[in-house]
Amino acid sequence: MATSVYDLHAHSTCSDGALSPTDLVTRAAGRGVTHLALTDHDTLAGLAEAQMAATHNGIELINGVEISVTWQRKPLHIVGLGFDIGDPVLNSLLEELQLTRRQRAEKIAAKLAKKGVKEPLEHASRHAQGRLITRPHFARCLIEQGFATDFESAFANYLGQGKPGFVSTEWVSMENALEALHGAGGVAIIAHPRRYRLTHSWMRRLLEAFKAMGGEAVEVVTGGGSPGDVEAMTQLAIKFDLLASVGSDFHDPINPWIELGKLAPLPAALVPVWKALSRPVQNKLAESTLV
Ligand code: AMP
Ligand code: MN
Ligand code: MN
Ligand code: MN
Repeated sequence: MATSVYDLHAHSTCSDGALSPTDLVTRAAGRGVTHLALTDHDTLAGLAEAQMAATHNGIELINGVEISVTWQRKPLHIVGLGFDIGDPVLNSLLEELQLTRRQRAEKIAAKLAKKGVKEPLEHASRHAQGRLITRPHFARCLIEQGFATDFESAFANYLGQGKPGFVSTEWVSMENALEALHGAGGVAIIAHPRRYRLTHSWMRRLLEAFKAMGGEAVEVVTGGGSPGDVEAMTQLAIKFDLLASVGSDFHDPINPWIELGKLAPLPAALVPVWKALSRPVQNKLAESTLV
């Protein structure tokens, strides 16, 4: 049997990705990915379409989402995988986040308008195609109007923390995100842990708190991460007895450094998170044969 290639973190046009769910899945299949998770920010809107494309392309789609949370005043991302897409509690948590995003978008737009940007909300909404608005949609608008040359400079000068278009936002709590994911039969993963620039002691505090809340895994191999990041997260995953995940965080084919399925292998000492994903299925089968 051919070897499995997992990519458990990717975005579509349902959040800030450039490809539709169908095009994303087709690209992943073309790059040899056998197990893909679509993990749009705070929405499940792309999963049904992605599932159809996965069936068509003969690959496994794992239900995914990347939830925006606030923990100790820090904005963090929790990837959820393998949950029931129809779970009412998870869906209402995501609806709350979508409302928070709409309110934040209005505030970001008001701030950018003060800096001379023309109709920022209208332009960002157009880039978002009427779907959920993220900062990259405002970045596009800034580039279009000549306020920035690229995404990096849009974030560095306008949208990043402490910049004129930044709006501090209270997302949902990590506890609530984990409760909703677990209630829906899913697992929780700390996305790209090294990107938060935490000190060593804050990283330990985060992993401890996450583990105490029942969190299952950390992303050890992430798109754009260095070998040093993999090494550091491998040690921490072992120390905190957490499973390990692998995801490109693919957004746009325009970025040549991040490609679907193009990831370093997980160090052999780690237990991959997909070992936990099959468990609910096995449990359900076991339960159904009990009676
Ligand atoms: P939001 O969730 O609306 O705050 O948008 C966050 C998204 O912006 C992340 O998921 C990244 O895709 C993107 N992003 C964050 N920082 C940068 C950056 N410095 N340059 C380019 N894109 C970024
Ligand atoms: Mn993103
Ligand atoms: Mn993220
Ligand atoms: Mn992401």
